[in-house]
Amino acid sequence: MNSKIEKLIKQFAKLPRLGSRAAQRIVLSLLQDKTGRAENLANALLDAASTIRPCPVCGVLTDTNVGLCEFCRDATRCNGQLCVVRDLSDVWTLEKSAIFHGRYHILGGLLSGVAGTLPDDLNIAGLANRIRQENITEIIFALPNTIEGKTTQHYVMSIIDAAPDVRFSELASGVPLGGDIDYLDDGTLSLAFGGRREL
Ligand SMILES: [Zn+2]
Repeated sequence: MNSKIEKLIKQFAKLPRLGSRAAQRIVLSLLQDKTGRAENLANALLDAASTIRPCPVCGVLTDTNVGLCEFCRDATRCNGQLCVVRDLSDVWTLEKSAIFHGRYHILGGLLSGVAGTLPDDLNIAGLANRIRQENITEIIFALPNTIEGKTTQHYVMSIIDAAPDVRFSELASGVPLGGDIDYLDDGTLSLAFGGRREL
């Protein structure tokens, strides 16, 4: 196989949920396309990779030109509710369901002995700062219903120093054991969010 094509397939095969067969199909489709899709994709990737960074407050990916992300800039979202999620795809899922109108905090992963993810690898210090500095009344954990999700939730609760009137809650029924937030349909997520349990 041509080494340039091989290199490209290897890069695509590293992407989440893509194996080498899917990577081959994508590369073939891009290289055989005559409408400039490969160039458009390359340009869009370069542009995003050089200008998109995590929001310094919550971790949502945003354009460096504007600094804070759309959620942190939106004053109507400053309603005292802070939803703690694992990553940006969970934010997108929650936004799609339109059930939550507060602010987010992305941890950037979950504690895991298997994957070797330690507390310092997650944005927990940033969360502790926000709890001290922002006027937060409720912290909602929307983490996966897995051992890692629960371990992370308990660890975060044990080390953050929240005022006694700050409420903690977690998503209720509907999130299956072992379930990821970003796989839930809007209806299930709305139920889980609306029926959240106080901790
Ligand atoms: Zn933000």
